[in-house]
Amino acid sequence: MEVVTYSRNVFIPLTNACRNRCAYCGFRSDNPKLMDEAEVLELIKRAKSAKEALFTFGEKPEIYDEIKRKLKAMGYSSFLDYLVAMNKMAIENGLLPHTNAGILEKSELKRLKPYNASMGLMLEQAVELDCHKNSPGKKPEIRIKMIKDAGKLKIPFTTGILVGIGESKYDREYSLEVISEIHKNYGHIQEVIIQNFSPKKGTEMENFSPPTIEEMLETVKIARNILPNDVTIQIPPNLVEDIYPFIKAGARDLGGISDVTPDYINPEHPWPAIQKIERCLKGEIILRERLPIYPKYIKLNWFSDEISWLIKKLSDGDGYASPGL
Ligand code: SF4
Repeated sequence: MEVVTYSRNVFIPLTNACRNRCAYCGFRSDNPKLMDEAEVLELIKRAKSAKEALFTFGEKPEIYDEIKRKLKAMGYSSFLDYLVAMNKMAIENGLLPHTNAGILEKSELKRLKPYNASMGLMLEQAVELDCHKNSPGKKPEIRIKMIKDAGKLKIPFTTGILVGIGESKYDREYSLEVISEIHKNYGHIQEVIIQNFSPKKGTEMENFSPPTIEEMLETVKIARNILPNDVTIQIPPNLVEDIYPFIKAGARDLGGISDVTPDYINPEHPWPAIQKIERCLKGEIILRERLPIYPKYIKLNWFSDEISWLIKKLSDGDGYASPGL
């Protein structure tokens, strides 16, 4: 029987400060917040069934004086120091971190690697698009470099494309080919998210139409043809009504699902209940929980001594999440 995976996580949006201004973004703010340690710990403690702490937040938040002041008040000399401390807090409380920080230097990736089971950066599209004209971090060459740097450091990695942000069908295929080539060279891409653009009120792109289900299904099929077989295709289950046709088209993962936190990037789309997902799979496909690091990379020992005890505790003999926990 076919298997589809997901990860039980808690979504920790450390800050909505971001140097970019993507035309579709409803997350960043000009009056940015930074979570304090007590707020992070409170979320971690509430996530009783989670095994993953998903740290997702804006890019290079230290460009804001307000953020620098808050970090200093908490006793941190840099955002990276604070992030490492929050990663460690998750580990101490039994959760495996997956950090999605936007653009990082190779030295920063190296510092974060011991405290993360996997990391991520959406490629989005490997071409310049109008929606990214005010987003220096969305230059394709910068993103491609970081994804390659993660490969050089043997970090299990998540990337993906955002569909419907002004790209052509050719651009989608080209972007998937770029990801495929990177994986052939470094072997670190465990999953590729095929994510549909979802318009947000109050943004420049609020009146843009999201891609149709047919376009999304076609993109998943194209992705399955282009990407190497050991790269899993992920489809966000809160952004499509019925996952079944996407599984039939080649998707095999549903990403992180949380019973304590919303999708802060798409808060208007709640996570489906596990029971609903199982109903959509019609008893034809097994739903299996995984960790933020895929079984293949556990077998390859692509993790640090700092988290090996936790991976052992949370995984079963096949490298999936242990069902008893
Ligand atoms: S989409 Fe991400 S990178 Fe772009 S402005 Fe929003 S938070 Fe920043």
